[in-house]
This record gives sequence, C-alpha cells and structure tokens, in this order.
Amino acid sequence: MQKQPVTVIGLGPMGHAMASTFLDNGHQVTVWNRTASRADDLVTKGAVLAATPAEALSASELVVLSLTDYDAMYAILEPATQALEGRTLVNLSSDTPEKAREAAKWAARHGAEYLTGGVQASPTGIGQPESFTFYSGSRPVFEAAKGTLDVLTKTDYRGEDPGLAALYYQLQLDVFWTTALAYLHALAVADAHGISAQDMLPYLSGTVGSMPDFFGFYTPRIDAGEHPGDVDRLAMGVASVDHVVQTAKDAGVDAALPAAVLEIFRRGITAGYAADSFTSLIETFKKPTA
Ligand code: NDP
Repeated sequence: MQKQPVTVIGLGPMGHAMASTFLDNGHQVTVWNRTASRADDLVTKGAVLAATPAEALSASELVVLSLTDYDAMYAILEPATQALEGRTLVNLSSDTPEKAREAAKWAARHGAEYLTGGVQASPTGIGQPESFTFYSGSRPVFEAAKGTLDVLTKTDYRGEDPGLAALYYQLQLDVFWTTALAYLHALAVADAHGISAQDMLPYLSGTVGSMPDFFGFYTPRIDAGEHPGDVDRLAMGVASVDHVVQTAKDAGVDAALPAAVLEIFRRGITAGYAADSFTSLIETFKKPTA
C-alpha cells in the first residue's frame, strides 16, 4: 500500500531525525527549514526540499512541525496561511498548553486540522520501539494520522483538548529539569571533594532508580489529600535539606538550588505542617505566595 506522504517543517536535531525516519520507512517526504542547508543529507536520501513554506504545505496533507516553540510556527506559517486549507498540522514543538489551544483555533480559522504532540524521546530515540509521544486534539484526526505517526514513536493519545499533550509533556519536563539540575549540583559538590561523575554514577542512579517505589508509596496518600507524618515529618526534612545546603557551602559550591528547596520546606513549617509528611508541601505549592 502507498505510504502517506509527509511534510516536515523544522530540521533541528529532532525534525531532522523525524524526516530521516519517515524516509527510512518508505514515506515520500517534503521538508522545509529556515536554514536550508540542514536538508542537504535528507535530499541526498530522497527528500524533496520545498522552496517556500507554502510549497511545503501544498506537498502533503499531513504536516509535522518540529520547531523551537510556537512563535517559530507562526513566523513560518503566517505568510503561508492560504496553503493551510485541508492540511493536518501535527505540532511536535514544545510550548505551553495554552499556546497549543490557541494554535488549534488559529489552524481551524484557516481550514486546517490540528494535533498537539509532546515527544518523550531524544532525537536518537526517534524510530525506536521504546519511545513514545503524547498526542491530543480531535480523536478522528488523530486516528487518521496514527498509522504514519507510529513510524516516529509509539503514540499515547491523551484526549480531545489540544492542550493536554503539551500539559503532559510539561509535567514530565517539570520533573526532568529539576532532577537533571540536582544531578549536576550533586556532581559539583562531589567534584569539590575529588569525586568524579563516574564514581557517583552507581549511587545517583540508585537514588533516582528508587523513585518509582517512592512515588508508588506516596501516590494514594496524595490523591486522598492525606499527609500523615508516620514515615517522614517535614521538620526532619527541613533539617535534612539544611544539611545539604551547608555541605554545598562548605565545599565552596553555589547553594542556590538546595537553598530554594529549603525555603519551600520552611514555608511548609510556617503553614503548620511540621508534624506532617513532606508531601504536605503540595498544599504549599497550590497556594503560591507571590
Ligand atoms: P532546535 O531548537 O534545535 O530546532 C529548532 C528548529 O526550529 C530549527 O529548524 C530552527 O531553524 C527552527 N526555528 C527556530 N526559530 C525559528 C524561527 N523564528 N523561524 C523559523 N524557524 C525557526 O530544536 P530541536 O530540533 O532539538 O527540537 C525541536 C522541538 O522538539 C523543540 O520544541 C524541543 O523542545 C522538542 N524536543 C526536543 C528534544 C531534543 O532532545 N532535542 C526532546 C524532546 C522534544 P534553523 O535550523 O534555521 O535554526
């Protein structure tokens, strides 16, 4: 059966990997990128480089966007809106849920269908069976595109609201970036003591690897709105984080990251949760002071 032709707009590391994977899977691929030279090897592999965004839109009904953010999409497509009629835009660029909802309305005004995607993989994970992407938007539109999108990663359809895929994506990144920065911070303190990242690898991997059990224990309590101090108490947490801050300062390392954590723990104490679990901090997060 003839594979569905695809246009890929945006050839950063991610869009490039996507275009390449579509080609590997026998799709006819049209590409466009602001910096045209990024398409060179894809053209060698069989892709067609469109001369303009309008030409790229006209080439395929299914159009995948992989751009830095939604502003980049508008910068590229606003001058080409006459070519949007009848297209399905699948925006795999990162941005906020609200921007995704606005984009769906914008696409509809120009006669285009719209799906939001949040890619849970690095460029090397594109085309790999373990990778997946959150999608949201019209279910029939998603179902029609799914067979082609499956070439990139597995799909996880979250619902009709176009903001949902962006929301799930940002929730993952909320955890990812904070964890990744904590990893670097710990390594800076280790380095001050002559301990290498390689030395720390098994220990930090062990700590992060224990998180699913930790989440599993606390999840029912959080969903029930209960924060009993039977296993951990916030007062203990404050003392513990304070030790982390002092250890960083003693090592001559910037302590801003754990100091921010300490400040949040202290707000929980001020709010009266000293004898409750650290999970009570979710109530503090829900009532921001500024
Ligand atoms: P890059 O930021 O490297 O690439 C962005 C693309 O957007 C390039 O094609 C760039 O064009 C284009 N672009 C940016 N601004 C404009 C503009 N104003 N006008 C026209 N084109 C513009 O991102 P990646 O390829 O790494 O990622 C793409 C998306 O995927 C991002 O939203 C990212 O958050 C998301 N993502 C990335 C992951 C990764 O590991 N890389 C993982 C998961 C998601 P040009 O080449 O001309 O600069």
